[in-house]
Amino acid sequence: MNIDDVSGDLSAVLLTEEQITARIAQLASEIDRDYNGLQPLLVGILSGAVMVMADLSRMMRIHCEMDWMAISSYGSGVASSGVVRILKDLNTSVVGRHILIVEDIVDTGLTLSYLIENLKSRNPASIEVCAGFRKPDRARKEVKVKYLGFDIPSDFVVGYGLDYAGRYRNLRGLGILNPAVYS
Ligand code: 5GP
Repeated sequence: MNIDDVSGDLSAVLLTEEQITARIAQLASEIDRDYNGLQPLLVGILSGAVMVMADLSRMMRIHCEMDWMAISSYGSGVASSGVVRILKDLNTSVVGRHILIVEDIVDTGLTLSYLIENLKSRNPASIEVCAGFRKPDRARKEVKVKYLGFDIPSDFVVGYGLDYAGRYRNLRGLGILNPAVYS
């Protein structure tokens, strides 16, 4: 789905597909360099990270493995509580592995900091994070994102894996959802 297909639903286009692809390619080369010979385990967080994972992993030139976790935030409403329930755990043991968590967006950082602690307790060799987007003004927990696509404003965004009510994940770029769509 292209920006033009839903332009009425967006109050602004933040990033085009081309801009995102170019940045993901840079991150893939950095990861290739840093993990040469280490065969990292890319851990994608469903469902938002599917697009980042698909593009990043295919642009990488080194061997890697992929596994997935599905999580849901405890509590109601839109605010992240930071306590997450694991709906689907990894299929792979991470003991002694170099884990690269692949996330769509870091908002408050609460979800990611919980996940990092959870995975650390399983004795991997290392853990780093790759995220497509981050909202620096919303940070409540400091999380080191070693491989970051873009810092973006605090607005609610959709596209490139990010949804609203299950829609817009297949939008090629990233846009700010017009508040009229959800109010
Ligand atoms: P955090 O725990 O960092 O506050 O929440 C991160 C999760 O909230 C992301 O993985 C994503 O699922 C969701 N999220 C945060 N900001 C946005 C946004 O602007 N748009 C969408 N669609 N999801 C978001």
